[in-house]
This record gives sequence, C-alpha cells and structure tokens, in this order.
Amino acid sequence: MAGVIRRLDETVVNRIAAGEIIQRPANAIKEMMENCLDAKSTNIQITVKEGGLKLILIQDNGTGIRKDDMEIVCERFTTSKLQSFEDLSSIATYGFRGEALASISHVAHVTITTKTADAKCAYRANYCDGKLKSPPKPCAGNQGTLISVEDLFYNVSTRRKALKSPSEEYSRIVEVVSRYAIHNSGKSFSVKKQGEMVADVKTLPNASVLDNIRVVFGVAVSRELIEVECEDQKFAFKVKGYISNANYSVKKCILILFINHRLVESSALKKAIETVYTAYLPKNTHPFLYLSLEIAPQNIDVNVHPTKHEVHFLHEDSIIESIQKHIESKLLGSNSSRTYFTQTLLPGLSASASVAKASSSSADSQERVYAHQMVRTDSKAQKLDAFLQPSASSSSTAAQRKTEKTSSTSTAVQDLVELDDAELLTAADVEPCGGKDPQTDAQPPGDEAPPRKRPHVEEVKEDLTAASLPRRRIVKLTSIKELRDQIELQTHKGLQELLQNHSFVGSVSPQWTLVQHQTKLYLLNTTKLSQELFYQILVYDFGNFGVLRLSNPAPLYDLAMLALDSEESGWTEEDGPKEGLAQYIVDFLKQKAEMLEEYFSLEIDAEGNLTGLPMLLDNYTPAMEGLPMFILRLATEVNWDKEKECFREFSVECSHFYSIRKSYTLEADADEPQDAEMSWQWKVEHVLFKALRSLFSPAKHLSEDGSVLQIASLPDLYKVFERC
Ligand code: ADP
Ligand code: MG
Repeated sequence: MAGVIRRLDETVVNRIAAGEIIQRPANAIKEMMENCLDAKSTNIQITVKEGGLKLILIQDNGTGIRKDDMEIVCERFTTSKLQSFEDLSSIATYGFRGEALASISHVAHVTITTKTADAKCAYRANYCDGKLKSPPKPCAGNQGTLISVEDLFYNVSTRRKALKSPSEEYSRIVEVVSRYAIHNSGKSFSVKKQGEMVADVKTLPNASVLDNIRVVFGVAVSRELIEVECEDQKFAFKVKGYISNANYSVKKCILILFINHRLVESSALKKAIETVYTAYLPKNTHPFLYLSLEIAPQNIDVNVHPTKHEVHFLHEDSIIESIQKHIESKLLGSNSSRTYFTQTLLPGLSASASVAKASSSSADSQERVYAHQMVRTDSKAQKLDAFLQPSASSSSTAAQRKTEKTSSTSTAVQDLVELDDAELLTAADVEPCGGKDPQTDAQPPGDEAPPRKRPHVEEVKEDLTAASLPRRRIVKLTSIKELRDQIELQTHKGLQELLQNHSFVGSVSPQWTLVQHQTKLYLLNTTKLSQELFYQILVYDFGNFGVLRLSNPAPLYDLAMLALDSEESGWTEEDGPKEGLAQYIVDFLKQKAEMLEEYFSLEIDAEGNLTGLPMLLDNYTPAMEGLPMFILRLATEVNWDKEKECFREFSVECSHFYSIRKSYTLEADADEPQDAEMSWQWKVEHVLFKALRSLFSPAKHLSEDGSVLQIASLPDLYKVFERC
C-alpha cells in the first residue's frame, strides 16, 4: 500500500531548513559575525550564556539596518547584497542568500536593536519564524546593530539533544570568533560568557595578524612563524598568511583557512600541506597555518550551501600545487639559513630548565625520545690518544724545522729560544701519582680556598727539594680578588655548561674547533677561547706558577730588536733608533724582574736575558714566534703604575702570547711530518679543551662575538635526511 503524500506545514519546512543551516550556536555566530563585517563594523562584541544555547548577544558598530528594512530582514531570501543572478559571479561578500537571520528566527527568539547613521534614534523589534512580531519600537542606541538570540533550538528538541555540553559549544564559539579576529586584524573582537568581567578572546583595533595569533595561540607559535605570500596570474588567485617553521610542531594540524574572507575547510589543501611538512617535522607532529586565499569570484562556487564548510573551486589541483610549492620553498629557505650566533640558543637557564623537564618526564616513561633528540656521545668518554702525548722533543724539533722555512723572524726566535725539556719533566715530576689533584691536597684549609678547581700548577721553586706536596701560596691582594670577581660575574652559565659537557669532534684549523653538545654541533673560536682561558689562569693562579725554563737564556735585547724589525710593531723613524728603544725595553723590564718572577714566574736574569716563562697548563708551551712581540708589548702596552691595571694588562698580553694562533701554527702545513701536525691538534684537544671543560668561566661576550657558532642541530639534519 502506497503512502499518502501530504504537503508539509510551512513552518515545519522552514524549521527543517533552518536546522540544516544553523546546526549549532557557533554556526549562528559565524553567520552573524559575517553580517557585522559586511556592515563595515570595526568592533564586534559577543556575549553568550550556556554555550550560546540560552543566549547569544552580538553587538557591532556597523551601518545598522534601515527602519524600513526591519520588517523583512528576517524573511527567507531577503538580502541587501544581491540583486540579480549575474551578481552571483562577482559577489565578494560573505553570506548572500539572505538565509541566516531567517533561519535563526525559525529556531530561536530573535531581537534586533539597530540604528543607522542618519536615523534619529534606534529601533528594536522581535522576530519569530521569520516574521516581525510587532512594529519596531523606537529606543535609545548607538549606531550599529545588536542582535540577541535566545533559546536556540527551543522548538527542535532533537537538535538540542544532539548538541554536546554548553562548554563544548562555548569552545567552538571561541574558536570561530578568534579565527575571524585573526583574519580581520585591524578590527577588534571580543567574546565572553555573560556575567564574566574578562573576555576569553579579545583583540585590539590596532593589532597585527601576528599580534592576534599571539593572543589566541600563544607566543610559542607566534615566534616560529614565516610569512607567506604569493600570487598567480594564470589561475587568478592570491594567498597570504603565516606558517610555522620547522622548529615548531603540534599534535594536531591547525589550518586556519579563509577563502575570499570566509572561514572554510579544504581537506585537499590540508593534505597537500601536511605532505610538505612531513619532511620537516618529527613523525606524528603537525604544523600551524593561517592562510587567506583569494580566488577570482568567477572561479569559486559561491552558491554553496552555508553549512558546506568544505569548499571546492576551479583549478583546485593547480592552485593547491602552487601553494604547496610556495610553502616548501619558504620552509627550505628558513631551514638552510639557520646559521646564527648562539646567544639565544646556548643552553641558558630557560633551555636547561626545559631539558630538565624533558628528562624528568622521560623518566616517567611518558615521553618518547625520538631518534633526532637522542644524544649518542658521552662527553665523559676518554680517548686513548690522550695518553699518547707527542713527545716534547719531537714537537720542538718539528717546530724548529717548521720555523726554518718561514719568516726570518721565527728562525731568529728559534735560534734564540729553546725550551728546556728537562725542566718540563721536572715540573711534571712534582705531580703526585694516584691521579689526585695535588692542589686539593696542598690547599691549606680555611682562608682562601680557590673558587674553582684550578690546574695543577706546582710551586716548583720552593718545594722541589722538600719532596713534599707543593704548597699553594695565598694571594690576598684586593686587585687580584677584584679581577677574579669580575670573571665570576661575567660568566655565561649556558656557555660554561656547553664547554663542561661537550664532546670534542675535531680541529678544523688551529683557530677553529668543532664540538658537539647535546644534539647540536658548534664551531668554537679556539684562539679567543684559549686567550680567555690563559687570562683566567693568570688571574687565578697568580703567584703560583711553575716555570718553563729556557735551555739557553734569551737576550731581551735581541727579542726586542726582532719585534721592532717586524711590521706588527708599527715602528717608524720617528720613534727613534731601534737600538735605543731595545735597550730601553731591556732596562725597563729588568727593573720589573723581581716582581715578574715573584708573581708570574717570568724570569729575567741580571744580564737582561729571559730565562723562564710561566707554566700555565701542563704539557702546554706557547708558540715562541709570539715571544718578541710579547716582550715589546710588555714594555709598551702595560700600565705599570697602577697595581690592578698592571696585573690585568700583563695577563692580557701574556694570554695573547699563549693563545693558539693561526698565524703561528698554520705554517705547519701538509708536507710537515705527522708529529708536528699532531702536536697542535693534540694540544688543542687534550690540553686546551680539557682545561676549557674544567677550569674555564666563559665570559658573556664570547657568546655574542661569533666565538661560538651553532652550525647544525640534529633535529634539522634529520629533517634533511628524511627528505632523501
Ligand atoms: P545575507 O547576509 O545573506 O544578506 P542574512 O540573513 O544574513 O542574509 O542578513 C539579511 C540582511 O540583514 C543582510 O543583507 C543585511 O542587510 C541585514 N543585516 C544583517 N545583520 C546585519 C548587521 N549586523 N548590520 C547591518 N545589517 C545587517
Ligand atoms: Mg548573512
């Protein structure tokens, strides 16, 4: 038996249709917000009660609705935005079918209060089922429109039941409002619950898109955004927006997509974008994107049902591909250009805090450590070659050979200065066996414990014969105390942590060294670091140095002459004859000999010969090519009149002389025998970097002046290799 077909009651038809358009409070708000924007509003305030189910209030400062139009505004297919069918192809506004308000009035109690600029007062009217309930009443009001929607779905119980909790509805409302707020920066939006004082989202009229993203999604993402913008003539589209870079990822992809200023979804575009990001982000993590796509109106099917969030457009594949390419190029660009000074990247306090957090949570076995986060080196690992020290004699003969074929200055220096190997051994002999730091034992308790662990520098002179453990002299000079305090004060904790826990990778050149710390690779300026290190040793071990004795005393006069002969000295005729200057330097330094020996173990004999230099680190001798300039500068660059300046400036000059310099060491080129090459590399790795690990308080400026460069990070490398 066939059923009887009946015509449905009109109100039932309208209600069904309305339910299709307005599925939940957030839809209603979206439609009404678009109306506000169409009416050129610059301020839109939304207040809701019970997730919008009880009440939605939406107030704008737009053009308002003419009193004459108030009668039909809520009827179906009434609109001020479209006149003929042809207009459909050029329309650039939001909803245009005149359905939104009508639909809402079929499923809720609607009240509109509105005032246009030229009206004397505002008018208020109530609507039910698309119809005006009674003539609009004049009332007080500002320009613009206030629409109140009460008891949404009061007459559609199935819909009401299908909706989740008010809080779920409310979060959808906040989501849609904040997305429109981001897209419409320059206009202010706010959304709050009724009765609350503060808005849950509030944007300011003068805020930028980026400001609004920060307000809504937080600083973490806003800091990692790349601006995108591209235009295409052929397919007549334009895209603008911000996308997260490879440093940022979230559990769920956030794609805020506006097409012709309407918030929509396009799963095809989303999928295409996600494909690009898989090459850059860790597995199962996703990007953040805000994209505003404008397509020629004739290419987009605007006559789309308002509930259809999912859109399609002409040339969809080509447009998506082109957006995909653009995003890819932006990501690639931002990734490869990431070589930066590391002051912000060094494991500073915040970073180490997050590391601590990460490790504690991984202890909870909650968090997985991904391959790209894994540190596979152990900074405490020992290498066998640390014990295979190139012998001092072989290195000095190599140095001799080397200098013979370089400048005449170096040859001359080599003729003058030769270190006494025996003396070196004597000094080393003092070290007690058992691997203990002699200082901790020698340190008299109380008084002046050194602030940090210092290298074992022996008090060779006084205690050698005593055959007891060397004693450390206590320095009570305030000048030295102040210099030490300054070092402490200047310490960059992050950089110190890096140096303490680095794994040595290799020497690129005498000047540059590669080390790994955690998952990052750094290029360190060995010259600058070593100079700073020696400066600190000079200040901390002041008065406690061992001696590097010269085999043959080196005449200061000859050294000074060598220095004056070199271009570096800057000597000119006007300075007077070199001989006179050299003699002056000898006489001058001889006066200081007692003090230099006492405090710095720099020994000058009665005849004006240099006989000993301070031993700053075991197994380390400075490159003697720098000695003449050192002597010259001691006489010319150090302020000998003021105690603190004198100690500081002497230490600066001395540390300059001791530091690893490319000009001296690079001459050990390829055709040199292996051991010569070995010697500076071995020194850098096993003497310098060992000391940098334990004895060094790196100053802040080192993190800013390019002495420390991060050149790669494992997560980034993973991203590169995953692409292959
Ligand atoms: P449409 O937006 O498709 O025209 P609506 O039902 O959403 O249909 O709105 C009907 C009409 O009501 C609009 O064309 C517009 O003239 C007017 N209108 C609605 N909301 C506002 C508002 N906030 N300010 C000014 N005019 C409004
Ligand atoms: Mg509309």
